[in-house]
Amino acid sequence: MEIDIEKLVNHIINDVKDPQVKQTSDSKPERFDTAGTMSQSSSTDDPCAGGMFDTVDQAILAAKKAQEKLFASTLKVRQEIITALREQLLPEVDEIARRAFEETGMGSLADKIKKNRLAIEKTPGVEDLTNSSRVITGDGGMTLYEYCPYGVIGSITPSTNPTETIINNSISMIAAGNSIYFSPHPGAKKCSAWLIRKMNQIISDVSGIDNLLVSIKAPSIEAAQEMMDHPEIKLLAVTGGPGVVSQAMHSGKKVIGAGAGNPPVLVDETANVGKAAQDIVDGASFDNNVPCFAEKNVIVVSAVAAELLTGMQAAGAYYISNPTEIEKIRKLTVTDKNTPNKKYVGRPAQKILEDAGVSYQGKPRLILIEADKNSPFAQLEMLMPVLPFIRVQNYEEGLATSLELEHGLHHTAIMHSRNVERLAQAARLMQTTIFVKNGPSYVGIGYQGEGPTTFTIATPTGEGPTTARTFARIRRCALTDGFSLR
Ligand code: NAD
Repeated sequence: MEIDIEKLVNHIINDVKDPQVKQTSDSKPERFDTAGTMSQSSSTDDPCAGGMFDTVDQAILAAKKAQEKLFASTLKVRQEIITALREQLLPEVDEIARRAFEETGMGSLADKIKKNRLAIEKTPGVEDLTNSSRVITGDGGMTLYEYCPYGVIGSITPSTNPTETIINNSISMIAAGNSIYFSPHPGAKKCSAWLIRKMNQIISDVSGIDNLLVSIKAPSIEAAQEMMDHPEIKLLAVTGGPGVVSQAMHSGKKVIGAGAGNPPVLVDETANVGKAAQDIVDGASFDNNVPCFAEKNVIVVSAVAAELLTGMQAAGAYYISNPTEIEKIRKLTVTDKNTPNKKYVGRPAQKILEDAGVSYQGKPRLILIEADKNSPFAQLEMLMPVLPFIRVQNYEEGLATSLELEHGLHHTAIMHSRNVERLAQAARLMQTTIFVKNGPSYVGIGYQGEGPTTFTIATPTGEGPTTARTFARIRRCALTDGFSLR
């Protein structure tokens, strides 16, 4: 019996596809309005208010339908969605950053613009999947491995990078064929909801698919937990501190956990010390130190400590060694429970100095505290531009101190040295997901450096810097006999 493959495929696709969406490849998608007449896509007939729902269940079920439509369409449609997101979000990048900055009160507006731009421009799309398919051929036939969607992904996003994480995860996860339920930090709910609506509109206009991104109008910790337990959530991507990552691990689902860090930067006596000083100040003051990958501890071999300090002061660091002043900063920024004071997370160095009552000159963008490795400034992930300056006798002590302060989080470490053997040894022994040699920490996520970007760096669960293929299941398809050309 002869089978008309094309007819069969069309039949299956039309069965799965929402009858309201008719796929076209070169023009705007056509859809039927409620009266049954054909119209071009527009926001006014959007029944979902841009993906924002009252309940977790409604949102996830809508995202499930949307994912089925995406899965029934082509890779070309996914790529068109991503291209439209890049093109239409870029002119809005200042506004996106401004909303996040004003709502959270964290970081610096100029740096938030850079981070959002980076997410829009350098998050890989569909090519990350297509160039990673694998084929094995032999006498027995052919076996194919491909990266395929999970379905609806539950993505929990942080207050520190709210919008860039939504952009970065959306591009990666849509490229892999998924829809996404976003659970934003309640402290960033307005900018997140605004962005989700905007992105949904762009997606709807280009593909005719509504609700590929969903969330609820009033996000909360409880709603995030409800989402984690929902049977239609097939994968969790959690970008946040240790509490939420471990909560997700108890859900019984697969978790891509992008957790906390405490990155050390080690400077040895062979380093280009002037460059190291500039790089450390640039990296550690970027967005007022809220990025999880930013330098959090300066560890320097004492032979070059004075030179590094002078260089860092010239680059904009304010150094404090007076115990009374150190105590003033500690009292302000560390709570009685020995946790960072959230009021000062991501706040500018000058604001911290002023509120602590420490007088200063110039316009410092980083505070350097003379400290040892047991100080709270060293032990805690402070997420503010206050760094301990820790002197060590030699490289070996420096490496041991770096390992201790990274706390086995496997996140990020940075080293400045011209000794290739030491660089190689430290990179291997630190076992961090990102290791930066002779540069500011942010080159590790592709800012002013090579490689794609990510704002979801999967540390405890080991997937590493995420891209589309991280959010895809690997499936194997075996075909017997033939299809080998040898
Ligand atoms: P956070 O842990 O307070 O919140 C993160 C997200 O988890 C928010 O959406 C919050 O609402 C949710 N959440 C918190 N506790 C929860 C619980 N018990 N159940 C369900 N949901 C819960 O962190 P934050 O202050 O928003 O972000 C900063 C932290 O995130 C830092 O530790 C930083 O290192 C980390 N981070 C890691 C990465 C990475 O890629 N590895 C990226 C950004 C931030």
